[in-house]
Amino acid sequence: MSSRQDKEKAVNVQVLLRCRPFSDDELRSNAPQVITCNDYQREVAVTQTIAGKQIDRVFTFDKVFGPTARQKDLYDQAIIPIVNEVLEGFNCTIFAYGQTGTGKTYTMEGECRKAKSRPKGQLPADAGVIPRAVKQIFDTLERQNTEYSVKVTFLELYNEEITDLLAPEEISKVALEERQKKPLPLMEDGKGGVLVRGLEEEIVTNSSEIFSLLERGSAKRRTAETLLNKQSSRSHSLFSITIHIKEATPEGEELIKCGKLNLVDLAGSENISRSGAREGRAREAGEINKSLLTLGRVITALVEHLGHVPYRDSKLTRLLRDSLGGRTKTCIIATVSPSVHCLDETLSTLDYAHRAK
Ligand code: ADP
Ligand code: MG
Repeated sequence: MSSRQDKEKAVNVQVLLRCRPFSDDELRSNAPQVITCNDYQREVAVTQTIAGKQIDRVFTFDKVFGPTARQKDLYDQAIIPIVNEVLEGFNCTIFAYGQTGTGKTYTMEGECRKAKSRPKGQLPADAGVIPRAVKQIFDTLERQNTEYSVKVTFLELYNEEITDLLAPEEISKVALEERQKKPLPLMEDGKGGVLVRGLEEEIVTNSSEIFSLLERGSAKRRTAETLLNKQSSRSHSLFSITIHIKEATPEGEELIKCGKLNLVDLAGSENISRSGAREGRAREAGEINKSLLTLGRVITALVEHLGHVPYRDSKLTRLLRDSLGGRTKTCIIATVSPSVHCLDETLSTLDYAHRAK
């Protein structure tokens, strides 16, 4: 194959591995460490003891971020180029994939509540990918002397049903149950993408607004969880940022560049491996499986250049259809715990993430 064909065939799927530090509980219980990260070599070693024998397995990723890596390190080294693509008018998607409790939400959102008492224009050290991406977008757009607009949507997918996390209405049990009966419908937009009818689109005018939006969305998610007995580990959240930039060509014609960044905090990956076993939850678990499993199949089809990509098989992949494959960049951040107690799930995360490469 010529290098030009190689380039055209290259799939822009990047897989990163992040291992969080030990939690206080893990430290108190003296849990042995079974994961060793070598960020520089982009390797993760897993140490297992099977029948008294110590066995090491080594996995290589596009990038590895060990327990001491800061939010800024991950963002600067892996995410900046993706956001630059979006600013050039392309659609890109970043996923956080891993067992519940391994740092998906920390990586995507970070600890945003602490954000209020900060000098304007600065990010707290704990800010995750979403606020950092929004800041990069505004810093870039404000430097360029052009007209632009930035809109965001924030939704939750639970049981293949969409809930708007930015909807302005009161949250009550009755309102939520009503919503559940009438989940927001997905419709084809005639341009290869889909629309969620009735989804709230917020116009953002500066990067600090993002913290209150994230807080509003998370509060809604928490309330819905409590009132409806949902299990947060079973839902996916999708935060999308759409940018329109007005540009003039040298001939004086006007051109609108449009790019979209999708930031997806996936359901806990343990829902794939364990759901089959639990009959009572079969339907619910089966539905979760549907989006997580279909996502796996879509990524495999893209990476292996299979002719048929099964986008239509789940809501999540339908929602992301215009931002996966083709001229887009995809980044999967797989998150794991260093502790022996999570070993089985860690191995299945490493296997899943490794297959996506
Ligand atoms: P998940 O969303 O995967 O269920 P969380 O993001 O809620 O996991 O993380 C679980 C806990 O671990 C949280 O208290 C979070 O602050 C902490 N945590 C996760 N990753 C890190 C990290 N890299 N550094 C410090 N704390 C972390
Ligand atoms: Mg979470």
